[in-house]
Amino acid sequence: MAIPTEPIGSIPRPPALIEAARAFESGRISQAELHSHYESAVQDTVARLEATGSSVVTDGEQGKDSFVTYPIHGLGNIATNGTPILFADGHVRQFPRLTKGPFGYRTPADVYLDTAQRYAHVPVKQAIASPSALSFLYPQEGIRGYSREEYFDDLLSEQEGEIRRCLEKGAHAVQIDFTEGRLSIRFDPTRRLLSSFIDLNNLLLERFSAEQRKRMGIHTCAGADRGSAHSEGVDYAALLPSLFELKVGNFYVQLASEPDREHALKTIRKFMKADHRIFVGVINVLDPRVETPEEVRDRILQAAKYIPLDQLGTTDDCGFAPFSDDTSRSRETAFAKIRARVAGTRLAARVLGME
Ligand SMILES: [Zn+2]
Repeated sequence: MAIPTEPIGSIPRPPALIEAARAFESGRISQAELHSHYESAVQDTVARLEATGSSVVTDGEQGKDSFVTYPIHGLGNIATNGTPILFADGHVRQFPRLTKGPFGYRTPADVYLDTAQRYAHVPVKQAIASPSALSFLYPQEGIRGYSREEYFDDLLSEQEGEIRRCLEKGAHAVQIDFTEGRLSIRFDPTRRLLSSFIDLNNLLLERFSAEQRKRMGIHTCAGADRGSAHSEGVDYAALLPSLFELKVGNFYVQLASEPDREHALKTIRKFMKADHRIFVGVINVLDPRVETPEEVRDRILQAAKYIPLDQLGTTDDCGFAPFSDDTSRSRETAFAKIRARVAGTRLAARVLGME
């Protein structure tokens, strides 16, 4: 038995693709030209992920505008001045805002899965946006003729369809990105907001069978954009009891960058359930230094003291570029770090007598 290891999702885009996306937005190149840049970026990303020894790959989110805005990018009823997200280094990402109903997806994630599967020789995992992240899209003041309830109905049916198609098309796993979970505690220390996020996300998850939910997971992190996080100081003890109420089988937990990993692991141990698999983050995506396989091994051995071996997996702390224009890390660094994760996970399995 090996220790399962999976990426989170995003890989920095090649400069040529970033430039092509800008050129397309300003009308300088055609959709077909942009598409050919996108196809070659996915092909290269999948090949290089496979070359790291990964037995599960992603498309590197090469075609996503961001991990959360991909389904709505290019819609006519979206404005750019929604909720701001402040990162530790002072930079801000502005969430978009819905201007009128009805709401529908423009590009669901299974479209990206199709492309990646054409190039991959191993299973492909697909990340999707969470209902709670997209709840920010509906403006606080409401929309005339389109209620918040109507919006949530439309949103959940789009997301249900998206997940069903990913599962039917053979995605290795569907991972719901929940970066706003930990962030919500910074916004609202009473955790009422977190509680409402958990309830909303479970409304989606309850639409699937227990068997399907074994192939579904949640990713939690403190954010990663331009080398900076948005909710690093929030204690896992405030998040995890609620997080583990989400009705999925897999949890992808940022851990390598935690200042006190022992505390985080003890908290995981205390609140995880018997049918959960915990993929612990063993690669710090905020740190430009590439970990050695031995460091990764030691992080896993530490985690194995708290998490039963048949419930343990490894991952990266977050995507390497959740926003498409983030060039704070190079593709080379991302692939080198993933290679270290794969090699370190094998080393740990050997020490633990699993191979
Ligand atoms: Zn993340």
